[in-house]
Amino acid sequence: MKTTDSILGPVRGNAADAIAYAKAHGAQRISDVIDYIKTVYSIAPQVGLDPAVVIAQAMHETGDDKGNVFNSYWWVNRLNPAGLGITGDKTQNNASHTWTSGVISAKSHLAHLLMYTKGTISGGGLNNTHDVRYDAYVAAYGNKPIAKTIADLATTWGTDPSYATGVVNRGNACFPNLENTTPGDESMTLYSVAGLPVKINLPVPLIQRIIPVGQTNQRPGIARALPGYWVQHETANTNAGADADMHATYMFNGCPDANGNPTQTSWHFSVDDHHIIQHIPINEVTWQAADGGGPGNMSGVSCEMCVNSDGNESQARHNTEALCAAICKALGLSIDRVKRHYDFNAADPNRHHCPDHMMSSGYWPTFVSNVNKLITGGTTVPTSSVTYPEGMDAGIAANLFGAVGTWKYAEGGALSSAWLNYGKANGVFPRLVNVKQAVDSPTITRTYWQFSNGLTFWRPNDKAAIAILK
Ligand SMILES: [Zn+2]
Repeated sequence: MKTTDSILGPVRGNAADAIAYAKAHGAQRISDVIDYIKTVYSIAPQVGLDPAVVIAQAMHETGDDKGNVFNSYWWVNRLNPAGLGITGDKTQNNASHTWTSGVISAKSHLAHLLMYTKGTISGGGLNNTHDVRYDAYVAAYGNKPIAKTIADLATTWGTDPSYATGVVNRGNACFPNLENTTPGDESMTLYSVAGLPVKINLPVPLIQRIIPVGQTNQRPGIARALPGYWVQHETANTNAGADADMHATYMFNGCPDANGNPTQTSWHFSVDDHHIIQHIPINEVTWQAADGGGPGNMSGVSCEMCVNSDGNESQARHNTEALCAAICKALGLSIDRVKRHYDFNAADPNRHHCPDHMMSSGYWPTFVSNVNKLITGGTTVPTSSVTYPEGMDAGIAANLFGAVGTWKYAEGGALSSAWLNYGKANGVFPRLVNVKQAVDSPTITRTYWQFSNGLTFWRPNDKAAIAILK
């Protein structure tokens, strides 16, 4: 551990080592220490904090100069894990908070570190009420993060200029030989993916909650065919609370249907607005594309994006784009391998209109465009200007539309509007490939616009509106 290490970052160290170290180094109120450490290792990965840094800070704050940890006055008497509200002023110190358990002590510490690193508290079941210093933070810094590295905590969290060195020394004593970390672009950090030999960069935590090997309805244990596709879905569950956590539990319970009967259903990832949960290793098959032994099921890397009404759907889309691009990059898949559930069951009379919100709102081409930018070299999730329809601006529309002669995308034009409406209804924005004019009588000239997917628009006569040629 170094002072330049990132506070937000992948999980380092583990609870068992931290507990053993505390027990061997004078820790008091040991059952609360154990609860504190276990809670840190449970919640920190869900909100993107590196638990090793959190524990190192607590050991520094509650330790003494003889190497003992969790034995300070404020820990023993109040379960204060990190000097929260201890300013050095006697009156303020005495007025500081008293915690009743190691669990809520950990939640306070994590919540306050989220303010320092993100300027906001969400995920992991945490909210503003867990941070007893929330009002003091906002008064001092507003809703802005002020710390990326451990070094940034010196002179802010701790007044002592050697504060960061103190934290790092405790971290190295407790967890020798950790890999160092550095803050990434847009707070991206490296996460392990089951079934993938390399770690990937993501803007939100990826948590593995892998279905057990014997649960064959969800995890048949068939090797996924290569190279494969990305298969994008939406959960279609807009209930409040229907986030990635809920879907992980649902899959552990066998993906029951409306009558409670188990179904042969599964997918690799669930993504919501604050994290990603992996359910199945990506080198194994999942049952999600409704194409039987077809390429969607047998070679797809499948992703359900949550559309819960209490989530931020725009953020969930950007998280999904980041995951899709990172996985495609790691697997060597180019953008033409990024598909929808809809693309794999064309023959089905009940063809799945999925991902429904992305298709209905016209966002799908933006999703593809954003993923392509990330695959081809971008390091941050693009945020396109959102105009009409949602997520698709005129620049992206013009790219997708292409050009034939002088015919190209013109915002608000009759042909362009017809094309846009077709795309919103079908989730497909095909490219213009040919324009033909036919003089069908001395007085009628018909124009035909042909698109890459076989769609043809026409004007039955030169005064009629543009329509789809059936
Ligand atoms: Zn689907």
